[in-house]
Amino acid sequence: MTLTAEAVKRYAKERGADLVGIANVERFEGAPEQMDPRWIYPEARSAIVIARRIPRGVYRGIEEGTHWSNYTFYGYNRLNTWFMPKAQYEAACFIEDFGFEAVPVYPGVPEAQPRMGPLREGQPGPDVFPAIRIAGVAAGIGEIGWSKVFLSREFGPRQRLCMILTDAELEPDPLLEPNSICNLCMRCVDECPGHCIPHIREGKVVEIQIEDRTYRWGDVDMGGCTLTHHGMNKEASPFLAKDFPGLRMDVREQRMSEEEAYKLCYTVAGGTWRATAEFPSGNVVDYYRTMLRSTGYFAVCGARGCIRACFMSGGEAGAADERFHNRFRKKPMWTLSPEGEVGEKD
Ligand code: SF4
Ligand code: SF4
Repeated sequence: MTLTAEAVKRYAKERGADLVGIANVERFEGAPEQMDPRWIYPEARSAIVIARRIPRGVYRGIEEGTHWSNYTFYGYNRLNTWFMPKAQYEAACFIEDFGFEAVPVYPGVPEAQPRMGPLREGQPGPDVFPAIRIAGVAAGIGEIGWSKVFLSREFGPRQRLCMILTDAELEPDPLLEPNSICNLCMRCVDECPGHCIPHIREGKVVEIQIEDRTYRWGDVDMGGCTLTHHGMNKEASPFLAKDFPGLRMDVREQRMSEEEAYKLCYTVAGGTWRATAEFPSGNVVDYYRTMLRSTGYFAVCGARGCIRACFMSGGEAGAADERFHNRFRKKPMWTLSPEGEVGEKD
């Protein structure tokens, strides 16, 4: 039996993949060398991108304001590092059973890599990490929405992605037309508590070219997103408000890089402090340290703008959620002011 694109897709889906797409590696032409998958495997002919869905239900507890752990565990950290790599690993073994090499690429991000020089002249230093969302576009399973979140027709903004490189020459999938899913409704901009997704009228755009198509999305302020996602924004975190009642830090006034924001958030989240009558837990922020120790991660914002608002926005990005028999949001959304005061918004 010969190895076909169809056989790889069928096998990966049997092993838990929800979506599988294939790019020929020439589609990565023009990628920065530190992100070009061809530096990981120069003989690769195909990049297989696998997606596993984020169940809508993992957002329920944050939407209600009653439970945060589900999203961190099932929708983020363990989905990326446990549930998804099982399908990826098994699909790689399946390909190697046909005598082709298969490189399952670890789901890291290019921004987080320590920099060092190359080991051989003329090549990038370790670790090269492809931008997985761009790989997903190249493999034809979706596009990057204005919010920078990956969108598919099947799940809207609810999936995470990983990749396998192989020297097997597999039939590539067709690319999507730009903006065939994201209709530029700007709902993500309106509901993002980090105020970090620019409105289209600001003209802050990232642009890439794959073959003859140009894909564009908003140039998201990743410092502001990280501060919010990882709990240093009272507009998204009741936990920060509880343990730092006097702190006034409007995320809109910060000018941090993504790495700078990570350094601050994780230092605070992992920190301990003497137990006193005022703060008896011994943790700098009680919830964050507890969550970090139990799941290795903590996602506080719950993607209120870039995922939740997007899947409620109707159009192609919301089509998957319109198939549910119930609406996701049935009452006004809870809100927090920059000072941490609780309110509501329709
Ligand atoms: S909410 Fe979704 S569909 Fe609307 S602009 Fe943002 S990414 Fe695009
Ligand atoms: S994770 Fe939160 S702060 Fe970041 S873009 Fe999405 S909604 Fe905004």
